[in-house]
Amino acid sequence: VRTGVSYFGNRMPEHYRGRDLPEIAAAGCTYVLHTFSENDLAFYRETMGDIVAATHEVGLDVVFDPWGVGGVFAGEAESRLLLDHPDAWQQGSDGALVPAACPLSPDLRTLIERWVDATAAVGADSVLWDEPGFGAPGPDGSRWTCRCARCQNEYRQSFGESMPLRQTPNVLAFREKLIIGLVEWCCRVAHERGLRNTVCLPAQEDHRASVQDWDAIARLQDVDALAVTPFWALWGKDVDPYVSQYAGRLVATCRANGREPQVWLQSFLIPTGREEEIARAADAAVAAGVEDIAAWGYRGCGHMSSLRCADPEAAWSAIGRMFRRFRGIDSGDPTEPRPAAR
Ligand SMILES: [Zn+2]
Repeated sequence: VRTGVSYFGNRMPEHYRGRDLPEIAAAGCTYVLHTFSENDLAFYRETMGDIVAATHEVGLDVVFDPWGVGGVFAGEAESRLLLDHPDAWQQGSDGALVPAACPLSPDLRTLIERWVDATAAVGADSVLWDEPGFGAPGPDGSRWTCRCARCQNEYRQSFGESMPLRQTPNVLAFREKLIIGLVEWCCRVAHERGLRNTVCLPAQEDHRASVQDWDAIARLQDVDALAVTPFWALWGKDVDPYVSQYAGRLVATCRANGREPQVWLQSFLIPTGREEEIARAADAAVAAGVEDIAAWGYRGCGHMSSLRCADPEAAWSAIGRMFRRFRGIDSGDPTEPRPAAR
């Protein structure tokens, strides 16, 4: 079983190497996902190289996440591209400019190429293309994107009609095609630089959920693995059926297309007393056939006030017990049951 955790919010390599990384290794992780935002790309490139090297030194793999890049990928980070290139913004069906780059924007593609170049240069092993999607649907939820001049043009070429204001089936198909096309291109660019690709899709409840046809993503030539983020507590769902359902669908899609399934567990905003649900979610995913489990994020996001679990220590401890159990690692702690190797 592969086990991972996301890491962000610290750009001091000595702190990472001396304090956090040993703890991550002791928790039984096999890889660390490091967020790599536009801010990191501009100001922390060599620093990230140090952080990658430290991760590799203890034998863990490194995944990079285009955190908030272009406003197209998920993440608690701003996009500088949108400041520098106002014409890259998406346009809503209501005419409003929406702060997320249009998937057809050439400036977005240029930025992603620079991002992938840096990711490969600092030595990351793979990329998690994190929840690619559209901008926010406006205060009443009725707005959809993208209806910019580029998209209207492209739509007319595809469907031989001008782009409607309503979300017709053609519009839905077009939007889905935009995201699939962007993901296909991202994965090709990353493969050309020797990076592995995992595409992460959000749950249906998320407004970013722009691709209904998971097979269309899974069968793309340069996709190696498919991930999903069934964040049960965030969406007010019962952990076992909710995670089982998503993991089951993911495994079926991956098996049909020869890809590896990966499930991200909610380890942020978990209410007090519900930390063991993280382990139950993992068990549900493993029971469905998933052998790559990751937690978002390190230490229950205790350092990030907008995301932290009510009891981050309890969440982190639940994650460590679960990962060590999956990997058959004896923690030496007499209160912890001896794991059976799997
Ligand atoms: Zn557009």
